Amino acid sequence: MSDGDTILVVGGAGYIGSHCLHELRRRGFKTLCYDNLSEGHRAACGETPLIVGSLNEEEKLDRLFAEHQVRAVFHFAANCYVGESVENPEKYYFNNVASTLVLLRAMRRAEVKRFIFSSTAATFGNPVRERIDESHPQEPINPYGRTKLMIEQILRDYGPAYGFSYCILRYFNAAGAVEGGAIGEDHDPETHLIPLVLKAAMGQRPDIKIFGTDYDTPDGTCVRDYIHILDLADAHIRGLEYLEKGGASTAFNLGNGSGYSVQQVIDTVEKVTGKAVVRSAAPRRAGDPAVLVADYKKASEVLGWKPRFGDLETIVRTAWEWASGHPEGYQDR
Ligand code: UDP
Repeated sequence: MSDGDTILVVGGAGYIGSHCLHELRRRGFKTLCYDNLSEGHRAACGETPLIVGSLNEEEKLDRLFAEHQVRAVFHFAANCYVGESVENPEKYYFNNVASTLVLLRAMRRAEVKRFIFSSTAATFGNPVRERIDESHPQEPINPYGRTKLMIEQILRDYGPAYGFSYCILRYFNAAGAVEGGAIGEDHDPETHLIPLVLKAAMGQRPDIKIFGTDYDTPDGTCVRDYIHILDLADAHIRGLEYLEKGGASTAFNLGNGSGYSVQQVIDTVEKVTGKAVVRSAAPRRAGDPAVLVADYKKASEVLGWKPRFGDLETIVRTAWEWASGHPEGYQDR
């Protein structure tokens, strides 16, 4: 087994990957980023060296593993739009599943055996109870969720067969940014609630459409579990340390354990930015459950993890620091 010194972050130019790189560097880890920049941004990698490449470039991966002593791989590279996955599932099965197989094969050849995998609450599908722990049935309702679940299943087979150890981390709604706004969320197209409400606050959009106002929730709008991106990054590093201490491969749900409604998110944006946001009622979005909240007890017991930036105001304030400082996002398009 490789006992290298470098954490390879695949997809490190994206939103979650770049915040993980930031946190790894801050804690003194040696980092390397591999990203094809199809969705990510060069500037998001900060001081981490970036190798531009796709996961289907097997020789490039072999070279990377030959030239760097990789201690573990954090894998974030994936397409992540539910709607697009329904319209173009081939893109998702190739880019998410087939590409991960190529990465795992290159890791096997290089004898790199620790893997931290970015999964999602979308693997659970329609919730059968409000708080979702790891024992909740996994029945994804769209191709995106299915691709992530397939990789989870592949890891369960590869682990014992090839001596891989892995942590699967299933995120709820990743949000926020580093303090000071050096890096943040910049998707194209943007579909996530908090950045969209911030754009409405900045006058870049006329309003925010609220997808469904007649849910069985206190104010009729959907309730979600928004988890600060640096809390996610912290869990990844704890996952690595857990594996390195000999912890068994497993999965953790990562959320902040409290739900906030769409209306509460908009109220908080208005409070933080001091700007009014026009709200328009719109039909429900297909596939949206009323309430989705994580039970993170297992991560807390096994990894000693708990959200440190859990309150919605901190999440929105840090997202605002980024958005107000970069109204057009990263300047690399
Ligand atoms: N949402 C909304 N208007 C928007 C975007 C999102 O009302 O323009 C709602 C969406 O229906 C969901 C919540 O905001 O209840 C969070 O959606 P997002 O797309 O950010 O994350 P998801 O929960 O789909 O992962």
